[in-house]
Amino acid sequence: MTIRYTFDVVKYQASKSLPCPKCSKRVKRAKTFEQTLSPFNKNAQGVPKSRAEIWAEEREQAVAWQKSAELCRKCQCLVEGRL
Ligand SMILES: [Zn+2]
Repeated sequence: MTIRYTFDVVKYQASKSLPCPKCSKRVKRAKTFEQTLSPFNKNAQGVPKSRAEIWAEEREQAVAWQKSAELCRKCQCLVEGRL
């Protein structure tokens, strides 16, 4: 017999549109931050995180991510030597 646990996933969808640091072309990115709402997902105090706690954490990560500019595809290729 298999015991299967299914847990809720708390998702936070973020998107950003910032100019490429190299060529100033606008770069659009989207990213989903997610964590499971489960007894194993605990906070620093060892208490399982609540939905609101997870959401607040994800929002913090999303805000930090939204502030960081990213190279457009072309500049990324130049950096990696693929062009
Ligand atoms: Zn660029």
